[in-house]
Amino acid sequence: VHVGETAHLKCEFKGSSPVASCWFFKKKEVVESSRFCIESCNESSSLVISEALPEDSGRYTIFVRDRKSSAQHTVTLNVIDLPRPPASSPLVYILSSHSLVLSWSGPSYDGGSAVTGYVVEVCESPTVNESMLSFKGEPCDEKPVEYVTVTINTVDKLTDHYNVLEKLGVGKFGQVFRMTHKETGRVCAGKFYKGRRAKEREAARKEIELMNFLHHQKLVQCLAAYDNKAEMVMVMEYVAGGELFERIVDDSFKHTEVSSVGYMRQILEGIQYMQQQNVIHLDLKPENIVCVDRTGIQIKIIDFGLASKLDPNTPLKVMHGTPEFVAPEVINFEPVCLATDMWIQTPYIGRYTSYIHLSDSTALFLCKTGKALLALKRMAMLSKPEASASLSPVDETEQALQSLELKLQCKPEFSKTSSDLTVPQGSGAQLSCLITGYPDPEVVWLKDGELLELQEECVKVDYEEDGSCTLTLENVSPHHSGLYSCKATNVLGEALCSATLTVEEKDKDMIMA
Ligand code: ADP
Repeated sequence: VHVGETAHLKCEFKGSSPVASCWFFKKKEVVESSRFCIESCNESSSLVISEALPEDSGRYTIFVRDRKSSAQHTVTLNVIDLPRPPASSPLVYILSSHSLVLSWSGPSYDGGSAVTGYVVEVCESPTVNESMLSFKGEPCDEKPVEYVTVTINTVDKLTDHYNVLEKLGVGKFGQVFRMTHKETGRVCAGKFYKGRRAKEREAARKEIELMNFLHHQKLVQCLAAYDNKAEMVMVMEYVAGGELFERIVDDSFKHTEVSSVGYMRQILEGIQYMQQQNVIHLDLKPENIVCVDRTGIQIKIIDFGLASKLDPNTPLKVMHGTPEFVAPEVINFEPVCLATDMWIQTPYIGRYTSYIHLSDSTALFLCKTGKALLALKRMAMLSKPEASASLSPVDETEQALQSLELKLQCKPEFSKTSSDLTVPQGSGAQLSCLITGYPDPEVVWLKDGELLELQEECVKVDYEEDGSCTLTLENVSPHHSGLYSCKATNVLGEALCSATLTVEEKDKDMIMA
């Protein structure tokens, strides 16, 4: 919720009535106050926090208990505040006919989380001159410089148009070099496909043709393609920041949850677009995510060498990918679908941290090592008494369960009592009542204020789990007449209910008859 809004935390549960519940926040039970309102019943509990403040942010745990078992669940509340606007208005410098550099200071208050980006709006106006650039106006979409529909050039040679510079990377299908366009000077990347056989050329052509469906700012753009006897090359926009993978294993880079969210969001934006185009990438991995520059968090997805456009009428089965990242249906050689790019959502992966998905075996190793160290640290903490005393989760659960146990407790009461009874001698008689109370009350029967003798064969007492209690007398004789009482006792108190039993002596004449 945003600051000042009302946060509704609600949890539904099942248990055998009565069910007690309580909320914990920062190791303390939440108590009702002017801003905190708790409403609980046997099936649910809601915590309503009005006029939320940033300090209300955090993990709220609800503990639930009935007389037999308990359960708990934790939710996280984020109270977001709006960051203030940039502290200074943008300054323009290095102004040319087609570019400029803007600089401004960040906000005085970031709203409780790091600012991940700014929106720069540009107003294009025919009357504007360079010194009159305005920073207000109708926003326009962040469109990439150009989207070209590429037809493969089979006439010219790549080197007629481009200078080939240093190698940028090596992939499955060839090598990638940095290049500059001979006329415009534009820096590009050229993927030189290695195979010259018909099948390999066909695969390369397929990648180039597919690129024409992938016009999106988060997907690397194909600018041109050359196919002649000497070589087959795809010219792409140059993405200068290096592989995201390099960055992830680089210690000097600070990785935060916010930056991970930033990367993931862009990757998802790219995949979302691909899915709209019915295209699956089939080789998504950190090596195929490249950073736009060395410092920012802008990325682009590259390498569509294994990508395919899905045809709804023809199931596609593939047997390629990168082992650490490949989806189950590929391994099982079952038809692939759009979800094949997104299988982190399988329960298997869901159990692990997202870092594993963002890494290859080396980072996986780093991650495992990190976790082992963390586990060791925790063990060391446990062995120190003063440290273990502060291990709150156990405390908190213990504390909550005790508090709920108290809430469930109630003194004995009779929800149904027996009424007075008159029976003829020789017949049976039954007195029954229903007892509530927690912890389960102890029950004794009294006759005329004295503890009832249960040794007598004709006297039987039943006490069921649901609280129903029955005294059964068989073959009664007049000496059984009297005031019968049932007494229920537990830690909180006792309750008594009584009924009179009258056994009618049989008429002597009747007996004789
Ligand atoms: P392949 O399809 O042969 O596996 P890739 O397309 O994955 O080849 O490219 C191999 C490597 O080249 C990438 O991992 C990346 O480091 C680099 N690379 C690829 N395309 C670009 C690009 N447009 N800009 C900068 N570097 C790139």
